[in-house]
Amino acid sequence: MARDTGPQCKQCRREGQKLFLKGERCLTEKCGVERRSYPPGEHGRGRVRASEYRLQLREKQKARRFYQVLERQFRNYYEKAARQPGVTGENLLQLLERRLDNVLVRLGFAASRRQARQLINHGHWLVNGRRVDIASYQVRPDDLITIKPESNAVDVVRQATELTAAVPPWLQADHDALTAKVLRLPDRSEISAPVSEQLIIELYSK
Ligand code: SF4
Repeated sequence: MARDTGPQCKQCRREGQKLFLKGERCLTEKCGVERRSYPPGEHGRGRVRASEYRLQLREKQKARRFYQVLERQFRNYYEKAARQPGVTGENLLQLLERRLDNVLVRLGFAASRRQARQLINHGHWLVNGRRVDIASYQVRPDDLITIKPESNAVDVVRQATELTAAVPPWLQADHDALTAKVLRLPDRSEISAPVSEQLIIELYSK
């Protein structure tokens, strides 16, 4: 499976804000953005010419990096969102938010999307009693998410739950039993992503 394996702190520095890609480290003073709050590279501290296109491009890259999705996949999500009824930008964010790797992070069962993806790929999670090893699996209302019986990832998952302050209202989690339920699909106001989806739609609509 193709995935982005580049340095994650550089991705945050490029976007000029914390995207919380590394779990616990993001909450410490070792955070790359805290230590060097300028873009990476030789010209990182140079002057950047602002343009409408640049703003739109950066917003798309930021969303892609936040959800850890490759360009082709991201474009596919946009095309699917555009075909759905309703507001395309909100549809896009909802599709990204419903990915199983993202849902594990929102539930507090993984410290980062990269960790969530690894746990899923290694078959540690069941949805409605069946093993799901595809990180992009789209959760649906009433899906039951459970850790595989006798999974050796229980300790890692419990550590992740300790980093979680709150679970969004469209999900329900039991951090003792390591089980969860999808109550409904998320509203835009319940999706905390540092993204202005309208700029992304403008970019793709050109
Ligand atoms: Fe981003 Fe986390 Fe690295 Fe900070 S520590 S720059 S939030 S990935």
